[in-house]
Amino acid sequence: MFNSDKFNRIRNSTHHFVGSSRKTRIISASALFLAVCAFGAAAVAPMAPDASDIPVRSIVHELDLPEIADQIASLEQSPQMYVVEEKIRSGDTLGTVLIRLGIDDDAAESFMKSDPVARNVLQLKSGKRIQAKIREDGQLQWLSMLTDERNDTTKNLVVTRDGENFKANEAPIELERRVEMHTGEIQSSLFAATDAAQIPDNVARQIVDMFATDIDFASDLQRGDRFDVVYETFWQNGEFVRGGRILAGEFQNGKKNYKSIWFDDMEPRLGGGYYTFEGKSLKKAFLKSPIKFSRISSVFSMRKHPISGQWKQHTGVDFAASTGTPIHASADGVVEMVATQNGYGNIVVLKHWSNITTAYAHMSRFAAGLHKGERVSQGDVIGYVGSTGWATGPHLHYEFRVAAKARDPMSVDIPSVQTLNSADLKRFHAVAGDMTHRFVLLHQEENALKLALK
Ligand SMILES: [Zn+2]
Repeated sequence: MFNSDKFNRIRNSTHHFVGSSRKTRIISASALFLAVCAFGAAAVAPMAPDASDIPVRSIVHELDLPEIADQIASLEQSPQMYVVEEKIRSGDTLGTVLIRLGIDDDAAESFMKSDPVARNVLQLKSGKRIQAKIREDGQLQWLSMLTDERNDTTKNLVVTRDGENFKANEAPIELERRVEMHTGEIQSSLFAATDAAQIPDNVARQIVDMFATDIDFASDLQRGDRFDVVYETFWQNGEFVRGGRILAGEFQNGKKNYKSIWFDDMEPRLGGGYYTFEGKSLKKAFLKSPIKFSRISSVFSMRKHPISGQWKQHTGVDFAASTGTPIHASADGVVEMVATQNGYGNIVVLKHWSNITTAYAHMSRFAAGLHKGERVSQGDVIGYVGSTGWATGPHLHYEFRVAAKARDPMSVDIPSVQTLNSADLKRFHAVAGDMTHRFVLLHQEENALKLALK
């Protein structure tokens, strides 16, 4: 009637065991059987010498046989269901997780490995929770877990049994946002310090991005350097799901102190960025070259066109590089065009702030999935060097346009900082004031703690 091994395995391996206790039901079922047997014994063997010794006799009268039979039948017809929960451990595979959950269901497992939506269950990040409802024989009824997308939206993935088949559904969920502050001190490395301060990995990586223009984290760090960070965290039902964006940070590197604050500027709606506490953008100037290692093969000038032979303005700069060399966005921006145009071949145009656009032509191919309207960050790979369109050999033709007019990227006076308009600046000062206040409070707490420990 039941598989006690399986039961014990489920019982021993789950952190939570929700629903009626299996053990209790087994005991009550056994009691019913005992009662039925006793009744039967009493009915067919009233003359047994020891019949009067059977203590259950007195309750036999109170039992209604058909009702008991019904109860037993219904126990057999509706198997017990359990809701179980597990946490993903490092080194887990789907198979090991299913075993810990007590799921013994090959059809469910192969569905999860093959269905395009259900496959997201394979994002086995350790610490992540996974819940399932299972039948006592291990058959899956439903399974649920949170999945993370590249752009930091969290979705709830649910795989449900539908008769003999399964279906999978994934929908974004609202997480509770909190703001946390942590402080760390460098002993050996930045990541050792962030681990010690229990700062999530994705937040630790942002510390590097935030101060990379000022601090070389490979060589500049000194023992005793300190940092404070204010960052978002996202929670569901009181459980940590993921870290979010750093809202502000300060870094004491030797004698130098750097501070930075995140601000979502309204203009020109190209997304937020990090600023100094005085409101100066830390966005770097445009990259001088969208290719890491290359040489300029043709400058911005009047020239005889290599194919048509006509003299005309060369409206960009050519960088010679072999086919397939990655091409990087020269600054943060939004993809304005991904297309194939006669002379340009495969071309990507990015729109940046201050009416600046950059164009990258003759690509052999675009970065996978790159599409119009997508936000890119400085340094992101947007495509690969090629010789599509009118090109005599593989190279990148790079154009820099201000208000749609081509300019020489090597000499134009590029606005290296994004300036905030007056409305934004007012809002910025409010945000910066709030963060400054938080840091003051954090330092007071640290000092109080140090005094208490002395
Ligand atoms: Zn060119």
